[in-house]
Formats: sequence, structure tokens, C-alpha cells
Amino acid sequence: MPAIPILMYHNIARPPGGVRLRSLYLPPRRFAAQMRLLSLGGYRALSLRDALPYLQGKQEDKVVVLTFDDGYQDNVEEALPILERHGFTATCFVVSGALGGHNHWDAEQLGTRKAVMDRNALQAWVAAGMEVGAHTRAHPRLPQLPYPAAKAEIRGSKEDLENLLGQEVCTFAYPYGAMDRRERDLVQQSGFLAAVTTQRGRARVGQDLWTLPRISVGGHHLPHVFPLQLWTGYEDRHRR
Ligand SMILES: [Zn+2]
Repeated sequence: MPAIPILMYHNIARPPGGVRLRSLYLPPRRFAAQMRLLSLGGYRALSLRDALPYLQGKQEDKVVVLTFDDGYQDNVEEALPILERHGFTATCFVVSGALGGHNHWDAEQLGTRKAVMDRNALQAWVAAGMEVGAHTRAHPRLPQLPYPAAKAEIRGSKEDLENLLGQEVCTFAYPYGAMDRRERDLVQQSGFLAAVTTQRGRARVGQDLWTLPRISVGGHHLPHVFPLQLWTGYEDRHRR
């Protein structure tokens, strides 16, 4: 089965001094270099929504999927101009209860508060042809919630974002990648067409669309690792 890499980014920014989890940051210059590499290689980088026909095997091309988790302000400020330069699209998975706020779910653990896009920034993202996907209302670990609460987090975030943006929200990312069969089924039954995890590896054409693996791209890797992650079995070998 052909492989389609789904890349996972968080912040497109230089990490502030002393911050933990460098994997969550990629400096804008390195992001620009990665997009240039894809472009030179003849790849189309697409949002998850735009990539669905390729994942379903209905269309074939050299495709890479770009996803950003949590909806940080730097995505629209730093990544968007670079994406537009190459004619690429991307998905931002947004915590609908945190718009205009900060990463309240991990700010303490990381030792830093990071600005999350507000309504205007999100509308600018969408106006540029980019996708907004759902990432729950409050960023909980879904398997730890009772069923009605998990359902409300998943469906509620879809409704919140659809009301805000006036368009369908059809993709989902599990917070922390925490999910089980129950969450997968809830997401599918809620009307999402695809969902991404943090399971490592490249997605395969024809695989289950609600448990898609991803490739984490961040400052924890040296630059030469990026092409290995995309075009070799590097990530597939690290599949848990
Ligand atoms: Zn997240």
C-alpha cells in the first residue's frame, strides 16, 4: 500500500529559553526549508480534508498532509505566509473552548503560556483556504471521561466551530493522542470523516480513517531527519 505522511506540528516559533518539550516547536526558518523541500520534490502538501480522496485511494499523486495541533497564534502569523507562497493547504486542530486564550491544559507542565488564535485569526486562516479541524472543547484525555462527557467534548467542539466559521468541520485530532475504540467510534458517529492520533508511522492508502498515524516534526530532530521521516521507513519502524 502506498504511504502518505501526515505531519504533526505545534508551534512554528523558536522555543523560549528553558522551555520543556522542544518537539513542540519548529523555528519558522526550518519550517520554510521543509516546505521548500516538498515543493522542489514535486509534492503537494494538503490539509487532511483535501487529502481524503488520496487516503481513500480515489486519487493518486505525490501528497503530504500538514497538520497543526492546538491552534496557536504563530500558525497564522508564521506558517500561513509560507504555505501560501507554495500554494499548499493545511489543517489546524482547534480547542474550541480556548479561542483567544492560551494553552491552559499544559501551560503549567511546560512552564510557558502560548497564545491561541482568536476568532479573527481563525477566520483569516479559513479565508486563505486552510482547514479548521476539531480538537475537543477543553483538551481533556478523552478515555478518562464518562461517556456523555466524552461525547459532549467531541460533538460540542464540532458544533462550536461550525457555528463560528459557517462551514462544516469534518476532521478531528484526539488530545494527547489519547483514544480507544470508544473514542474512535464516537468520532465517526459524530460525523467526522477522518481523525488523527499520535501513533507514529506513515498513513497507508485504504487504512481506517479514524485512527490515522502521524509524524511529529519539531526541534527535537536534526534537519536531516525530515526527509528520512517522509521518504523512508524511519517512522514506520518506530511504530509502537
Ligand atoms: Zn493538543
